[in-house]
Amino acid sequence: MAIRNILNKKDETLHKVCKPVIKFDARLHTLLDDMAETLAKANGVGLAAPQVGILRRLVIIDTYDGTGVHELVNPEILWKSDETQRVQEGCLSCPGEWGYTVRPKKVRFRAQDRNGTWYEQEAEDLFAQAVCHELDHLDGVLFLEKVVEFIDPKDMEE
Ligand SMILES: [Zn+2]
Repeated sequence: MAIRNILNKKDETLHKVCKPVIKFDARLHTLLDDMAETLAKANGVGLAAPQVGILRRLVIIDTYDGTGVHELVNPEILWKSDETQRVQEGCLSCPGEWGYTVRPKKVRFRAQDRNGTWYEQEAEDLFAQAVCHELDHLDGVLFLEKVVEFIDPKDMEE
């Protein structure tokens, strides 16, 4: 496994629409493993392939709830709850920038695993927020576009 470089929001890669994953091969598995290592080192909750320079539709999410790293290949949101949550958000590609977004409280999504098998899953709270944030990356959308109120970075320091 290897740590990959996380691109900054200024990189045009982060503003492009990603293509579907079509090969579920060793190269994909290496990418997913590298992304997991990169995410853990950065103490992040989620990482999308374009953030490491790969314009393919896959993301990983780890909410540190004990269920491990979720791998979502070619993910699609099937349903969003009407109930929303107002949450603090940041992004590994936007260091030092924080804001409140309004995200669905729950989402249901479908995705393929690393071997290409489709599955469906429901996510809520932080997991739902991360699914929305990471899937936006696959369409070239950064959370900054979704912020309803920016947070002074000084207020984020402990
Ligand atoms: Zn992000």
